[in-house]
Amino acid sequence: MHGVDVALIAPDMGAMLELKIIPVTPFQQNCSLLYDTETMKGVLIDPGGEVDRLRAKLQEFGVTLTEIWLTHGHLDHAGGADQLREETGVPVIGPHKDDQFWMDEIGDHWARYGHPGMGRAVVPDRYLDEGDQLKLGDITFDVSHTPGHTPGHVVIHNQDMKIAFVGDVLFEGSIGRTDFPKGNHAQLIDSIKTKLFPLGDEMRFVPGHGNMSTFGQERRHNPFVGEGATSGPNTSGPG
Ligand SMILES: [Zn+2]
Ligand SMILES: [Zn+2]
Repeated sequence: MHGVDVALIAPDMGAMLELKIIPVTPFQQNCSLLYDTETMKGVLIDPGGEVDRLRAKLQEFGVTLTEIWLTHGHLDHAGGADQLREETGVPVIGPHKDDQFWMDEIGDHWARYGHPGMGRAVVPDRYLDEGDQLKLGDITFDVSHTPGHTPGHVVIHNQDMKIAFVGDVLFEGSIGRTDFPKGNHAQLIDSIKTKLFPLGDEMRFVPGHGNMSTFGQERRHNPFVGEGATSGPNTSGPG
């Protein structure tokens, strides 16, 4: 997925956010740059690596970074957060504290995948939990705790703009892997069915990898969790 731009509009408020999806790292993880087109202040969600490129993007679009939001602690999602914080002074927020064991190991994991220096360990300034809220300008985002792929995974969503950032919980036509330490397939399915699908069929989502989709599309057709799904746990693909 390359250079995807989406204009997000909150109908009642007239506020507008711009979403730019920037795939980073060899895992092509969908880092989201989300910013207010009036104030030009924005957040990066899941800056997994390639911090220099992300900073160049901020400059290119004229965006001042205010916060870094993380969906979960995996290397491809959280690997660039500590360096970005060091360079910009903005806080790292999320995921849930149960993912700290993943974030402690990020440097070692990148080395193991053959890319030493791609990312490093990070301790967030603030953990997130079910029911927490995040702000970007006047827009409030809600937080759901969605364990399964990792125990501390969170999903960040806004009902007015019909947009959710789901990390590696759900993909177009697939679901998150659960064959990693503390992964849990039943818990993942439960998170999708009780936390994501109830947000409504119209809800669009940015997954950690691959194309955007909607909860309605996946509720109907996803072979792992849709109507008449027959596939068992997912043990392949990006994590
Ligand atoms: Zn992951
Ligand atoms: Zn991932």
